[in-house]
Amino acid sequence: MLSEFALIRKYFDRPAPSAVLGVGDDAALLRPSAGMELAVSTDLLLEGRHFRAGADAHKLGHKALAVNLSDMAAMGAAPRWATLALALPAADEAWLAGFAKGFFDLARRFDVELIGGDTTRGPLAVCITILGEVPSGLALARAGAAPGDDIWVSGELGGAALGLAQPGNAAAAKRLDEPEPRVELGERLRGIASAAIDVSDGFAQDLGHILERSTVGALVEYDRLPKFPGASREQVLAGGDDYELAFAARQDKRAEIEALATDLGLALTRVGSMQKGEAKLQLLGGDGAPISPGRGFDHFA
Ligand code: ADP
Ligand code: MG
Repeated sequence: MLSEFALIRKYFDRPAPSAVLGVGDDAALLRPSAGMELAVSTDLLLEGRHFRAGADAHKLGHKALAVNLSDMAAMGAAPRWATLALALPAADEAWLAGFAKGFFDLARRFDVELIGGDTTRGPLAVCITILGEVPSGLALARAGAAPGDDIWVSGELGGAALGLAQPGNAAAAKRLDEPEPRVELGERLRGIASAAIDVSDGFAQDLGHILERSTVGALVEYDRLPKFPGASREQVLAGGDDYELAFAARQDKRAEIEALATDLGLALTRVGSMQKGEAKLQLLGGDGAPISPGRGFDHFA
């Protein structure tokens, strides 16, 4: 049986050349770049609540980091470092090897270095804190949208919820288990988007957070929403875990955003506009009649 320290050394102690000091001391030491603000975000994933018992370790390693990268994307920040707190029922080496591979394969793709963490025995839980950098004043906050701004969505909505309902649908299950964080899009939206959020709890609910923070309303046409093939209306509007970006931008940014979509090879779809008035989402069906946005995911329910 591996000891706590042998386990950390074998699976998680990796070089972190861009940190002053990485894994192995009482704290990591970091030197943020000049002119940058630090963006910090934490996500806690619990077995039975955020992932099924017996979930594949490699996919979990990917997803745990991906959801954090998605938060950096939504701020327009470049991810740089992460810490990893793990509670494990046992030091299962096959599980650890799979988890570490899923984590580090994704970390390498985005130049993220693991700089510390905590490891203990307990019910399976994964908590990652991610640190990123964004040029001072250019972060994509939720509060910047104004009436008249266009509303945009990346990729397609509803795939992850469809994958949860139909595990046999391989393409949809991949959206659920191995989401692709839109990090490059987030960075490229600096100076273009007026507000942004990642779609983690359902499009309608997450857009609602922008509306509240920006004190604007929104008008969205359901037919214009980019939909994962086969996803139901409920899955498109209220299914969580898509990790696409929803963002607002002034109308004079349209050409720039369309060019960005081409450049990234990623669909960016204009789905509606911000409105004066209370922070409410008005959804219209194809016949112009209002549709109820439904309810998104509530982790406290
Ligand atoms: P402390 O006693 O200060 O909490 P630990 O003994 O828990 O430190 O951890 C030893 C070192 O290993 C620390 O540098 C810590 O950041 C790192 N560490 C512990 N668990 C992990 C992990 N799961 N991933 C990465 N680094 C870890
Ligand atoms: Mg510790």
